[in-house]
Amino acid sequence: MTKIIAIANQKGGVGKTTTAVNLAASLAELGQRVLLADLDPQGNATMGAGIEKRTALPTVYQILLNQVTVRDARMRSGPGHFDIIPANRELAGAEIDLVNLEQRDLRFKVALAQVADDYDFILMDCPPTLNLLTVNAFAAAESVLIPMQCEYYALEGLTDLVATIKKVKQRLNPEIRIEGLLRVMFDPRSTLAQQVSDQIKQHFGDKVYDTVIPRNVRLAEAPSHGLPVLAYDRQCRGAKAYMELAEEMLGRTRQGMNSGRTAREKTDGQT
Ligand code: ATP
Ligand code: MG
Repeated sequence: MTKIIAIANQKGGVGKTTTAVNLAASLAELGQRVLLADLDPQGNATMGAGIEKRTALPTVYQILLNQVTVRDARMRSGPGHFDIIPANRELAGAEIDLVNLEQRDLRFKVALAQVADDYDFILMDCPPTLNLLTVNAFAAAESVLIPMQCEYYALEGLTDLVATIKKVKQRLNPEIRIEGLLRVMFDPRSTLAQQVSDQIKQHFGDKVYDTVIPRNVRLAEAPSHGLPVLAYDRQCRGAKAYMELAEEMLGRTRQGMNSGRTAREKTDGQT
């Protein structure tokens, strides 16, 4: 079963792309087959995976317009050991170009179906807005992973995000759910960060990952070399934290599969 996860938060600069690239590389390190789709015209995930966005063609844009298939557009991130569908500035025009097209919310979902069997995980890096690109990601996703900084306004932004997920659930994708909340750039010495972290746990319970991503300068440096942090400095705290996250995610996935089976066995037993 392929797990398709959108990495989203409409707040800018909260670590979505850092999480997308490094989680993709860490899952690949654990032997998983991973596809990372860059749905942000900024093309940061593309660059972070070692692909030059200015020359990367075709991109998600052509996929959304049905000009190419995912099979044609995917590329290999050599240093990351995963596949990537690149994006660049051209994608900024997608919103307008898609407006009059049929099934404009479902285009990416339909396109991904072609390659779903090739992967264990498909991760989608979303832009910092709740626009048509994000809605395409949510329509295709089984779940949403939300990276967040433990700051004063963090919870406020979450309300809008959760409302959008609910709308998508009603209208486009009844299966969608929150995969998990990931605390990033975390500073354990900050009292405010601890307080906000406690509030998040109160609200979202075990949806909050035990793994916390610390603020770590190596994570910020790696993309300028076109490398996931594992390929840049695998011993640093940031690299270890994203490996821990990948392990936690795999553990939760297996647990979910087992509890799903147990629930089915129970129901089967009753009938
Ligand atoms: P956008 O909303 O613009 O797409 P984003 O949510 O994808 O942003 P990133 O680009 O991942 O956020 O991160 C924003 C900045 O913070 C980047 O310069 C990145 O290198 C840095 N950064 C992200 N996570 C960490 C971390 N754990 N420690 C230190 N720096 C980090
Ligand atoms: Mg980003």
